[in-house]
Amino acid sequence: MNASTLSLDAALNADLHCHSTVSDGTQSPEWLAQRAADNGVRLWALTDHDEVAGCARAAAAAAALQLPFLAGVEISITYIDKTVHIVGLGVDPEHPGLVEGLRRTRGGRDERAREIAQQLAEAGIPGAYEGALKFVGNPDLISRSHFARFLVEVGACADVPEVFRHYLTEGKPGFVPHRWASLEQSVQWITDAGGVAIIAHPARYDFTPQEEHILFSRFKELGGQGVEVMTSSHSEAEVQKYAQMARDYGLYASRGSDFHSPDESRIDLGTLPALPGGLQPVWQLLGKRIRYPHTASTGA
Ligand code: AMP
Ligand code: MN
Ligand code: MN
Ligand code: MN
Repeated sequence: MNASTLSLDAALNADLHCHSTVSDGTQSPEWLAQRAADNGVRLWALTDHDEVAGCARAAAAAAALQLPFLAGVEISITYIDKTVHIVGLGVDPEHPGLVEGLRRTRGGRDERAREIAQQLAEAGIPGAYEGALKFVGNPDLISRSHFARFLVEVGACADVPEVFRHYLTEGKPGFVPHRWASLEQSVQWITDAGGVAIIAHPARYDFTPQEEHILFSRFKELGGQGVEVMTSSHSEAEVQKYAQMARDYGLYASRGSDFHSPDESRIDLGTLPALPGGLQPVWQLLGKRIRYPHTASTGA
């Protein structure tokens, strides 16, 4: 597999959003690479929350499987008082500005986790900090997903989606407001590291149309270039809506399962429908950033 044999057309089975044990996924980067290859993914990216430390392992595993790979990240930001996620694709995972920015973004997570546990204790569920930690692969990245797994383990809820309906979200026990990075910082870290910035799963933010317009316009002004159109949390109507927004705002379209776990994720790696027509796939911007497995030179 090399640059001349991978066709970057709209039908490419690209899966450009998933999580490993380096953030809140339950599987290793190596497991994910194997799963992507087994499911017919032809271009894969690892996008852990606020951390690029899994990218070297993912790249090595992908190379061994002849799977073209993009180093990625999903940055948590606060915009108009809401948490928004910005995916970066094709970043240099060793870029000092990106690495340092992400380190600072992760900084408040432990204190937040202790406050989440305190609230859960007041709601009658003790031991949540230690309980969540048992599910954490990277102590710097304790997240609500780890608390959700603990709440399922102790029988407070039947599954993870039920947890997020009763706990850990605004107005429910275990919700601790948090200020993440800014939109400006996230786009700058990603572009300085050579990557392309993408608004992740836009249907999940509950913005008014005017707020959404402000987000898309400002993002574009700052140098953001893409939006996730096809992702597991979008309904068919939302896919169509954001396909149209991509066309209207002149953004490239991305496709990624946001896979976290074989037990929790409804959509497996590489199994989303193709992008709707009339869009520019974001991988057409990323050709130079793709890491192709080394193939024996034929002199071509
Ligand atoms: P945090 O970064 O600690 O705020 O955790 C956010 C993570 O929680 C997301 O990346 C998802 O993996 C998970 N999450 C948030 N809301 C839901 C939901 N409604 N259902 C399932 N998982 C969710
Ligand atoms: Mn997550
Ligand atoms: Mn996300
Ligand atoms: Mn994600």
